[in-house]
Amino acid sequence: KHTKKPDAHIEGASQLGIEIRKEANFSGWYTQVLKRSEMLEYYEEVSGCYIIRPLAYNIWEEIQSFFDAAIKKLGVEDTYFPMFVSQRQLEREKDHVEGFAPEVAWVTKAGSSNIENPVAIRPTSETVMYPYFAKWIRTYRDLPLKLNQWCNVVRWEFKNPQPFIRTREFLWQEGHTAHFTKEDADIEVREILELYRQVYEDMLAVPVIRGVKSEKEKFAGGLYTTTLEGFIPATGRGVQAATSHCLGQNFSKMFDIVIEDPNAPAGADGKDAKKMYVWQNSWGLSTRSIGVMVMIHGDNKGLVLPPRVAATQVIVIPCGITSKTTDDDKKLVEKKINDVVEELKSAGIKAKADLRENYSPGYKFNHWELKGVPIRLEIGPRDLSNQQSLMVRRDNGSKEPIPLEGIVSRISDTLKIIQKDMFDRAKKVYDDHVKIVLKWEDFVPILDGKNFALIPWCEGEKCEDEIKEKSARHITEQEAEDEKAPSMGAKSLCIPFEQPDDPPIIPGETKCVSCGTLAKRYALFGRSY
Ligand code: AMP
Repeated sequence: KHTKKPDAHIEGASQLGIEIRKEANFSGWYTQVLKRSEMLEYYEEVSGCYIIRPLAYNIWEEIQSFFDAAIKKLGVEDTYFPMFVSQRQLEREKDHVEGFAPEVAWVTKAGSSNIENPVAIRPTSETVMYPYFAKWIRTYRDLPLKLNQWCNVVRWEFKNPQPFIRTREFLWQEGHTAHFTKEDADIEVREILELYRQVYEDMLAVPVIRGVKSEKEKFAGGLYTTTLEGFIPATGRGVQAATSHCLGQNFSKMFDIVIEDPNAPAGADGKDAKKMYVWQNSWGLSTRSIGVMVMIHGDNKGLVLPPRVAATQVIVIPCGITSKTTDDDKKLVEKKINDVVEELKSAGIKAKADLRENYSPGYKFNHWELKGVPIRLEIGPRDLSNQQSLMVRRDNGSKEPIPLEGIVSRISDTLKIIQKDMFDRAKKVYDDHVKIVLKWEDFVPILDGKNFALIPWCEGEKCEDEIKEKSARHITEQEAEDEKAPSMGAKSLCIPFEQPDDPPIIPGETKCVSCGTLAKRYALFGRSY
C-alpha cells in the first residue's frame, strides 16, 4: 500500500510538473522551471529582485569555490569595500558616470530626515576602491595590486527584468587590479577571460564565444573590454556571459593613482622623479551565469543540471515494491540502497536516497527530474537478485541496467560523459546558429531565423547604430507575449578572437556588409538580452 499516493499529494500533483512548453512560451517556461524546481522565488515587494533559493545558491557556491581558488593562484586577494559611494567619487571619471548614472540607486533619507549629501549604492566598485588604490600605491614595488570581492551590486534597470539574467540587485565577483605595464595588464585580462570560459564551458556546460567588444559596447570609461558571449537557442538571442576589462590609464589619471617611474628617478640635479600612471583592469562574473545554464539545458520536465554543479548528482529510488513484497524484502532493498549511497558518497559522488514512504516511485521520478538531478538509480527486489540497478540519465532519458558490482566507477564515468555530452550538444547548436553573412539582404532574415550573423564589419560607431535601426523588426503580439521582448535591433556582441578564414577579410578590399566602407574584421551581431 505504500506505493499509493495519499490524496493530499494527488491534489498538489499539477503544481509539480512543468505545464508550459519551452518551445511554445519560453519566458513562461523559464519562470515556471525556476519556481517549481525551487531555484528561485519572486520577491513580491520590489520588482526586478528575486530570492535565490538553496538549489541555485549551491551552484553559485560551486562557481565561487572554483573561481576563487583559481584567482588566488594568480596572486589575487579577497577583500571587502563598503557598498556606498559619495556623489563626488562616483562622478570622477566622466565616461564611467555617464554609462552608469541612469541606473544608480541613491540613499536620500535616514528615517524621516533628508540626507544632506545623498550616497549612491555601488553599481560596480571602481569609484569606491580607486581612491584607496591611490593611497596604497606609491612605488612600483606596490605593484601589481590584485584585489577581488564577492558582493552584491545594484543597477536600477528599467528594461525587462529576467530572473538571474537581468536583475536590479545581483551577486558577483569583481576583480580590480593595478599593474606596472600595459603588457602585464593585457596578459591578466586574457587569463581571467580564460577562467570565465572554464566556469561556463567546463562547469556549466555552456558554450561561449570569446572576443572583444566594439567601442560602443565596451565598459564605460575603460580602454577595451573582452567578453564571453552565450547563445540562447530558444529565442535566438545572445547574452553577455562575463567581461574582463582593461581600463588602461583612464581611471588612474582621474583618481591619481601614480608611482614614481623607476626608470626616471629624482635626479641629483634636483629634478623631480617622473610620475607614471598605473595600468588597471576590472573583471566581473555574476549570478546571470545560473540563468544562462537553465535556459540552455532545461527541458519540458524541468531543470537539467550539469554534474559538476549539481548539489545532488545521483538519486537512488526504491522501485517494484508492491503489496505482495514481504517486509524482509523491502528492508533488503532499503539496506542495499543505503549501502550504494554510502559507497558513492565515500568516492566523492553526491548521492542521496529517496526512501519516503508515502510517495510513489512515479512521483519521486518527476520530483527529481524537475530538480535536474543527472542520474537516477532504481533498485527493487528483482534487481537485488540480479545484482543490478536501472540507471536513468536526466540529460537524454536513456535507461540501462548496470551491475551493482563496480557501481562507483560506472557512475563516476557516466557523470563525466553526461557533462561532456551536455556541452557537446549545446556547442553544436551554437555553431549551427552562427551564420556568415556577406550581403545586407541576408542579415535580417538570418536574425529572424534565430541566428547570429558574423559579418565583415567596418567597426564604426555610426554603422553600429544604423545596423540596430535597420534590423529592428515589428514582432507579432504572440511573439511579444512569448519573449516579452521589444522589437529590438541587433547589436554587435563581439569581434571574435577566432576569425573565420573563409572567405578571408582582404585589407583594402573587403567591404563592410552594412555600410560598404572597408571592413576591418568579422564581428558577431545578434539580438540579445
Ligand atoms: P559589467 O561590469 O557591466 O561588465 O558587468 C559584468 C557582468 O555582470 C556582465 O558581463 C554580465 O554578465 C553581468 N551583469 C550585468 N548586468 C547584470 C544584471 N542586471 N543582472 C545580472 N547580471 C548582470
